[in-house]
Amino acid sequence: MARVFLGLGSNVGNRLLYLRQAVDLVVNIPGLTFVTISPVYETEPVGYFEQSDFLNAVAELNFEMAPENLLSELQEIERMLGREREIRWGPRTIDIDILAIDALYYNSPRLRVPHPELANRLFVLQPFDDIAADYPVFALGKTVHRLLEMTTDRSKIKFYLSSQALLNQPKEV
Ligand code: ATP
Ligand code: MG
Ligand code: MG
Repeated sequence: MARVFLGLGSNVGNRLLYLRQAVDLVVNIPGLTFVTISPVYETEPVGYFEQSDFLNAVAELNFEMAPENLLSELQEIERMLGREREIRWGPRTIDIDILAIDALYYNSPRLRVPHPELANRLFVLQPFDDIAADYPVFALGKTVHRLLEMTTDRSKIKFYLSSQALLNQPKEV
């Protein structure tokens, strides 16, 4: 059984609904069990600025499968939720990234773990810190909390919704 942290983000359409549907689909992947999810934050886009603000959250799960199979499952969910891969870092209904898996360092053409931008993204580190401040990101030699303290990302981020409210609301409108 391995512990995985996923970063979720949406900035198109009903962002909260996409987040909720993504969480719902993720927890139904066979071989995967839900542990916890962070609050939702509203964050300004980085990398490609002509787009709307994001909603971001980080989820913790346990899973038993090969990391690349997990990535395939997550990409299938992105496709189901209507993601169109046109512009990297561009607008998307849902983005689901693998942030970290236990103490794993993994580097293949399809998958890099820990996520290469982890230390540079406040929109990931803040929700990650909320649920797992002491988690050691071994490849970076630091806890999540230390990475949050050290990041130079000064982009805007504000609390949007509690994790309780995220989980309790309907998945359809
Ligand atoms: P970023 O990865 O910088 O957040 P992005 O999420 O917008 O950018 P995507 O279009 O979602 O990028 O994914 C591009 C490719 O990244 C995917 O095809 C996937 O194979 C690869 N990838 C590498 N490492 C990871 C990871 N840890 N989690 C998710 N995708 C990854
Ligand atoms: Mg991403
Ligand atoms: Mg991605």
